[in-house]
Amino acid sequence: MTHEATHDVIIVGGGIAGLTIAWELARAGRDVVLLEASDDAGGMLRRGAAAGLEVDLGAESFATRTTGVADLVADARLPVQLVEPAPGGAHVAFRRRSGRVDRAPLPRRALVGMPAEPLAADVVRILGRRGARRAAQERLLPMPVGAEPSLAELTTSRFGARVTARLVEPLCRSVYSQSAESVRLSSLHPVLWEKAQAAGSLTAAVDALAPAVRAGSAVRGVEGGLWRLAAELEAVALRAGAVIRTGTPVRAVTATSVDLGHETLSAASVVIATGPTAAAELLGIDVAPAPPVGLVVAEVASDGFDAFPVGSGVIAAPDVDCAAKALTHVDAKWQWAAAALPAGSHLVRLSAREGRHDELTDAAGAAAAIRTLTGVRVSPGDVRRVVPVSWPDAVATPPVRQAVAAAAAERGVRLAGAVAAGTGLASVIPHARALACDLTTPPTPSEGVRHVH
Ligand SMILES: Cc1cc2nc3c(=O)[nH]c(=O)nc-3n(C[C@H](O)[C@H](O)[C@H](O)COP(=O)(O)OP(=O)(O)OC[C@H]3O[C@@H](n4cnc5c(N)ncnc54)[C@H](O)[C@@H]3O)c2cc1C
Repeated sequence: MTHEATHDVIIVGGGIAGLTIAWELARAGRDVVLLEASDDAGGMLRRGAAAGLEVDLGAESFATRTTGVADLVADARLPVQLVEPAPGGAHVAFRRRSGRVDRAPLPRRALVGMPAEPLAADVVRILGRRGARRAAQERLLPMPVGAEPSLAELTTSRFGARVTARLVEPLCRSVYSQSAESVRLSSLHPVLWEKAQAAGSLTAAVDALAPAVRAGSAVRGVEGGLWRLAAELEAVALRAGAVIRTGTPVRAVTATSVDLGHETLSAASVVIATGPTAAAELLGIDVAPAPPVGLVVAEVASDGFDAFPVGSGVIAAPDVDCAAKALTHVDAKWQWAAAALPAGSHLVRLSAREGRHDELTDAAGAAAAIRTLTGVRVSPGDVRRVVPVSWPDAVATPPVRQAVAAAAAERGVRLAGAVAAGTGLASVIPHARALACDLTTPPTPSEGVRHVH
């Protein structure tokens, strides 16, 4: 059965990007329909249950390098409370030359793992004196000209191999789920890259941009969980008149229509706001999918955690043999979680290393990873509950982003979300709002003339 309907805009994908656009267009009076494949909107802002709490199973904080999230909360009057993480900061676990796994607080002032003050005591603690002295030479080296190298090449050539191995690589893998060899600084942190070019030094650029406080406070969260942001935005979008259809997977799109299999909808504009592989499928192109992002949320009853042994969490250098690459101690990081948990109970999130998610999904595997990353003696019996979650389409690699952007441009389909804007709410939300603004701005007279011809 084919049913023709005409709307102003159809959005495919109800993650935070799709919801943001739906709200913006609806409040501007546009006839907007959002189609979401799963039973709930929110995408990677999803809730689950653990230790009697509703907890985040996807993103749990947002970077404050842009005001994108705070602006959205204010402008949409979302009834959520933005909160700071506890000031303890996170740690890094790395292997000493002796083979022993050591842990230390991440440098107080750093960006993407690059230290603002290479000779500061907290940097020396991680790199050793020689490694820190080598890193301090960065300011003296001329910036390379020509094509931008990978982030790993850039930081190794400028700061030395230890900065890459113990700081940049673990940060990159845990925050962006990509190796520092496969990304460029200009795509991860364009402002930092520009500043470094202008200043002639990465250290000088980090020094200018890094917050004056410990790493970790460059993020904020939402009281009760970040999933609330999407839930409240969905409610506001619906109230503004957006139509949101969940359980509605789209099969293919053109510039003015979407194919649901049994139904075709048409609109003046179509926006794809799905993950990268789904976007490629909708546009009919072949891309190599990135591996899934695996996570477990575990409830742990252990006295060893009462003193917050690794602050808000710990990221692991690649030479630490562990099925998890990072651990977040949720109730150490978020006061609201600590207040809601029963005494003696703790919540941790373990982010799996590629291909090793299965090792974390039972109590024994989770306990082993927690021991390695924190040094706290946790037995399988201390791990009360393990909630595994796998995100199959969470990573947008640069080649896939380029291929999808080219295909969308060629077909006249608009593209939003992490595939267009880069990973993270700080990028995705401002991009989505700018796209919505573009869709609501009438064409200039010259564009109108072009259109007629
Ligand atoms: C474990 C994890 C932790 C993270 N932590 C953070 C963090 O702390 N801070 C941060 O800023 N970012 C974090 N991120 C990244 C952040 O969650 C994403 O960048 C952001 O949520 C992407 O939003 P989006 O709207 O682009 O995509 P998504 O949230 O992926 O939404 C896309 C939606 O499209 C739907 N869809 C897919 N195919 C179709 C189809 N054919 N038809 C209809 N609908 C379809 C999907 O079901 C989904 O709901 C994390 C991600 C993960 C996985």
